[in-house]
Amino acid sequence: MSERTKQLLDRLEREHTLSLDEYAALLRGWTHEDAAYAAEKARRACDRVYGDAVYIRGLIEVSNICRNDCLYCGIRRSNRNCTRYRLTADQIMSCCREGYALGFRTFVLQGGETGESDIDAVCALVLSIKAEFPDCAVTLSLGEYPTEAYQAMFDAGGDRYLLRHETADRAHYQSLHPPDMSFDHRMQCLYDLKRIGFQVGCGFMVGSPGQTVETLAQDLKFVETFAPAMCGIGPFIPHKDTPFGGEPAGSVELTLYLLSILRLIRPALLLPATTALGTLRPDGREQGMLAGANVVMPNLSPPDAREKYTLYNGKLYSGAESAQHLAELKQRMSAIGLRVVTDRGDAKSG
Ligand code: SAH
Repeated sequence: MSERTKQLLDRLEREHTLSLDEYAALLRGWTHEDAAYAAEKARRACDRVYGDAVYIRGLIEVSNICRNDCLYCGIRRSNRNCTRYRLTADQIMSCCREGYALGFRTFVLQGGETGESDIDAVCALVLSIKAEFPDCAVTLSLGEYPTEAYQAMFDAGGDRYLLRHETADRAHYQSLHPPDMSFDHRMQCLYDLKRIGFQVGCGFMVGSPGQTVETLAQDLKFVETFAPAMCGIGPFIPHKDTPFGGEPAGSVELTLYLLSILRLIRPALLLPATTALGTLRPDGREQGMLAGANVVMPNLSPPDAREKYTLYNGKLYSGAESAQHLAELKQRMSAIGLRVVTDRGDAKSG
């Protein structure tokens, strides 16, 4: 392996910071050996903070109705081939009950962005979930809102908010989104969420069209400085009914290498092995864990919602991806020496 890469990884492990140029250097011309070296360090760093625990979150895809038109996303507003749905509060509560019985202690409500019209409904839902399951954490992943709306969701009992920054490079952000979406607003939302007191998750796609080593270096620097509780990353996967339908998918190897680097930047980061990773590789979840991830988010949505919540083509929603097949996930994790735990799975300090 290259001496320069090794030196940078060693220093990152010790100091948890590199310059923008050094992050870019890590991502330029790396080899499988470099990635293996990073993964070994990352796994050790994860073990020191979280031991062999794998945290699970029950993902509930509450709606695919979206006002935004992100160029990469299958539920973008202008996709006429997308059959829209919205789960009722009763349906969502049933998902939580099923998940609780299976051992989930975090529920993630994710959906398209509907804006201010649904704030009261979201707050009512969070209140109901927290009332029935006081020992569970509720994570919201519903896009951008005004500060007051986030505050109301927090006051209703929301614990965490997942809002991928998508890219920390302004020009790249604009090339992935229509002109009515703003990089500054996305960033503003992330800082608002943190100030309000949510445990915040950011994140980005790997291999989005036009992404470069330099834009990825900015993502790494952003995670270092923003210091989120979580960071979700997964390969870009094309959806046929989007402007990026003909673009190639992102690289699994690069995603794994980035997971390792993120673990070295923030050893206590909650780092999921995402569905997109599992979609491109049958053992993507295990590979993610071995690269330093410590969270998986099996799908608890009703089966017909899972099919309609199509961000990209080929999405997994049965087998070990589904919450109902938790036994398979547990067994896959134990095969690599890890243990799925029944726990809220809050971030540790360290
Ligand atoms: N509306 C919410 C949830 C978005 S969907 C929000 O704005 O946060 C969750 C994530 O899926 C997105 O943040 C994006 O990073 C990812 N995603 C969307 N389309 C994708 C694609 N084609 N390939 C891979 N990931 C995608």
